[in-house]
Amino acid sequence: MATPSEPERRPHSIEAFVRAYEGGEGLLGFESSCGFKTATWVLVCPKCGARDLQETKLADRGTIAAFSIQHVPSEEFLNEAPYAYVVVDLDGGGRVTGWIAKVARDDELKVGDRVRYVPTYKPGVQFVREAP
Ligand SMILES: [Zn+2]
Repeated sequence: MATPSEPERRPHSIEAFVRAYEGGEGLLGFESSCGFKTATWVLVCPKCGARDLQETKLADRGTIAAFSIQHVPSEEFLNEAPYAYVVVDLDGGGRVTGWIAKVARDDELKVGDRVRYVPTYKPGVQFVREAP
C-alpha cells in the first residue's frame, strides 16, 4: 500500500512520452536517486542498481551525438525534406532522437553542435540549432 510520503508513480509508456512532447510539456524521462537520467525506460539504474526510477522532465537543450540527412522522407515529413534526423544527448542526461528542419547537406551540422527542443504540431521531436 502506498504511503503519503511515496512519490506518485506513473506507468511508463511510449504513448506517455509522445503525449508529453506533442502537448508541449517537454521531454519526459526517468531519474534514479543517484541522479542518473534516461529517456528510455529501464527497470534498474545501470549506474547504481536502484529500482526507484521516477518520471522526470529532461532538459530541452543538448548536443548532437549523430545525424543523417534525409532527402527521401516518410509521408508525414514530405513537407520537411530535406531535414536532419538527429540523435541528441540532452544536458544532464538522456539520449533522444529527433529532427532538424531545413538541413540539406552533411557539412551544415556536426557532432557536438548545440540544439534545443521546440514544441511543434509537426510529428516527432523537433530540434533547432543554437548559436555555438
Ligand atoms: Zn542510479
